[in-house]
Amino acid sequence: MLKFDVLIIGSGLAGMTLALHLAERRKVGLITKRDLLEGSSSYAQGGIAAVLDTDDSVQEHIQDTLIAGAGICNEETTRYIVEHSKEAIDWLIALGVPFTKDETHETGYHLTREGGHSHRRIIHAADATGAAVTTTLGQKIKAHPNITLLEDYIAIDLITSAKLGLEGQRVYGAYALAKQADEVVTIAAQHTILASGGAGKVYLYTTNPDTATGDGIAMGWRAGCRVGNMEFIQFHPTCLYHPHSKSFLISEAVRGEGGILRLPDGTRFMPKHDPRAELAPRDVVARAIDFEMKKHGLDCVHLDISYKPASFIKEHFPNIYAHCLELGIDITQQPIPVVPAAHYTCGGLVTDLKGRTDVEGLYAVGEVACTGLHGANRLASNSLLECMVIGKAAAEHILAATGISLPDIPDWDDSQVTDPDEEVVISHNWDELRRAMWDYVGIVRTNKRLERALNRINLLSVEINEYYSHFHVSNDLIELRNLVQTAELIVRSALLRKESRGLHYSRDYPNTLAEGQETVLTPN
Ligand SMILES: Cc1cc2nc3c(=O)[nH]c(=O)nc-3n(C[C@H](O)[C@H](O)[C@H](O)COP(=O)(O)OP(=O)(O)OC[C@H]3O[C@@H](n4cnc5c(N)ncnc54)[C@H](O)[C@@H]3O)c2cc1C
Repeated sequence: MLKFDVLIIGSGLAGMTLALHLAERRKVGLITKRDLLEGSSSYAQGGIAAVLDTDDSVQEHIQDTLIAGAGICNEETTRYIVEHSKEAIDWLIALGVPFTKDETHETGYHLTREGGHSHRRIIHAADATGAAVTTTLGQKIKAHPNITLLEDYIAIDLITSAKLGLEGQRVYGAYALAKQADEVVTIAAQHTILASGGAGKVYLYTTNPDTATGDGIAMGWRAGCRVGNMEFIQFHPTCLYHPHSKSFLISEAVRGEGGILRLPDGTRFMPKHDPRAELAPRDVVARAIDFEMKKHGLDCVHLDISYKPASFIKEHFPNIYAHCLELGIDITQQPIPVVPAAHYTCGGLVTDLKGRTDVEGLYAVGEVACTGLHGANRLASNSLLECMVIGKAAAEHILAATGISLPDIPDWDDSQVTDPDEEVVISHNWDELRRAMWDYVGIVRTNKRLERALNRINLLSVEINEYYSHFHVSNDLIELRNLVQTAELIVRSALLRKESRGLHYSRDYPNTLAEGQETVLTPN
């Protein structure tokens, strides 16, 4: 058995922020199911929204967030996070993150603009901000004597008081599969943090890396936490459409810097869908592209920035330029073929401003959580900010807490299970689930489609749970069990919403109700 003061599950920006803030005074175990840098955080391109410029204001950033969130953001959360934005960026700069400089600007840094923001307020490291941040923080994590980093460890389930036959509702750590040794390890901790990211892989097409399988949402739900706003899945309007490129995002900043969306014949179409044209919020752009693709029977549309000087494009989008060029697309000369894809999970485990869930000893930070910041639609570049601000608040709360003595925790019992007989069950069900979600729970929804999806999910769920109770766990089985659980939560939440709001668009209920409510599901 392994024992830590704090167990952190996930090594994206949320997990790294927590580990670094806690490690000065606590022994931290940081487990991650692939390597340290693999997670959505490392793929973030655009940047981090923060109020840094004297022309900008906290109030305006809050206002932009509330408008994007379509009436159901939690205003207190929004204010708290925006008010702490400068402090979060100062922390990253002090740690050495190489943000793109602009000596002519009062801050010394280049600030870019993204859809839904009324100001240039996105600090970035060219077009590979996430990688710059996680690489810098990752080096500190690896060098810290109080952080034990366990790569290739996938958490299976939380160790709860209910599992131990104890009173109350508390978490005491987690069981995890050490993938290389192929054995299940017990990890005991006074505090456990889910920093396991979102659930984009529940859909067939996604910008998310393979790690985004909703593990934390499903584990937290099984442990007794409420989930909120799960129907709000953000579809990024512009994922590169190319047979040899998996999940490559064409950043919002390309539209921010003047990129124009066109049909393959060159016709610009955004102005007829929204007066903000290419700078409209993501959901509006994604729905417009979906509409045009369905209307004209297209496989993709085009995003054109080629009219800008080649030097400008190469300087601002070196990563996108290089990636496209490798595939034979020179974005300084020709438009980029793009399609929408599942991008961000706005909902998650309900938490307060300190990252606390409903279950004692359990915190959730980052994309796995629902703090109320994003409401019905996330404003671009607010999510990395949330990871850092709530991560620091959670760390402070944990540092101020009094210690508990851990109960006896039994080892994982796999005496009743055998080796899997037919692994095809996993791969088949995985494909079926993701396709059903794409076809029936996508950008435009109807009651009939949602019910169809739920029927299939229920069947898959029975089959997967039966498989889980008979066979040894594997990485794919753990992920599939969590994906099907998360899919169910998305569909059940979508069925409860009798209106269209933010990212949830239903043909059966095209109007928005006068008063917006969060959707909250409570486990039995
Ligand atoms: C392509 C792309 C571009 C983006 N661009 C931006 C942007 O410009 N600005 C912005 O603010 N946001 C952006 N986002 C969103 C943002 O990157 C994410 O919301 C944010 O990084 C989430 O951080 P996180 O720490 O919560 O999760 P992640 O960074 O996804 O990290 C999750 C971690 O948990 C681990 N994990 C998951 N399950 C388990 C388990 N069972 N056991 C052990 N470990 C587990 C994963 O391996 C990973 O290490 C982008 C997202 C994508 C995909």
